[in-house]
Amino acid sequence: MIAENLKKVRENIIRACKRSGRDPGEVMLLAVSKKKQGPDIMEAYKTGQRVFAENYVQELTEKMDELPGDIKWHMIGHLQRNKVKYVAGKVEMIHSVDSLRLAEEISAFSLKKGFVTEILAEVNVAAEENKFGFSPDEVEEFAVKASTLSGLRLTGLMTSAPVVTDPEENREIFKKLHNLCVDINKKSIDNVIMKNLSMGMTGDYVVAVEEGATHVRVGTAIFGTRS
Ligand SMILES: *Cc1c(COP(=O)(O)O)cnc(C)c1O
Repeated sequence: MIAENLKKVRENIIRACKRSGRDPGEVMLLAVSKKKQGPDIMEAYKTGQRVFAENYVQELTEKMDELPGDIKWHMIGHLQRNKVKYVAGKVEMIHSVDSLRLAEEISAFSLKKGFVTEILAEVNVAAEENKFGFSPDEVEEFAVKASTLSGLRLTGLMTSAPVVTDPEENREIFKKLHNLCVDINKKSIDNVIMKNLSMGMTGDYVVAVEEGATHVRVGTAIFGTRS
């Protein structure tokens, strides 16, 4: 079942790329495995999937210890500053950086350990009350400040669009995030090249790819519903 689901999702991504004149190689599928156990993850792994994303630090670190070492993990959930030490240096990218204070902690810890952590800035494009993230008009100022933190590299933006019945309703959100990247790149901030757009989940990843997503985060469509 998981193998078939993955095949379908990969095909949908390729079709969305063709429709929008994009190279499928530009889009990375992150299998969101939160609340799913090792056997489910291994089923995806056996089809060749190597990139997984998790929301919770403890779950992430447990899975990293138990599962094959060639899995690349991405952190996509809200991260508390006191947990940075469990994540930085172990994941490919932290997508969910939502404050300058968190970025400063990631940078300081990374510098101390001698590596550079790749991050995205999370943006609450639709200004939803229950969601983390910068508002669109705060992102540029954050990018300027992040450019001075030598333990991290800001390479793009991430958003979780609202839950909608028709994915077309989120097209404008994805366009806005894309334009925000373009606008920030025009400012030519040192050390900041916004090339990554982490957007699109089970309900709307096809539309997100059409609007330029480089990382789609898909859980339910691969692993089924979560309890
Ligand atoms: C859970 C989660 C996803 C995956 O959601 P699905 O709708 O199951 O595909 C993607 N991104 C974030 C930030 C999540 O928390």
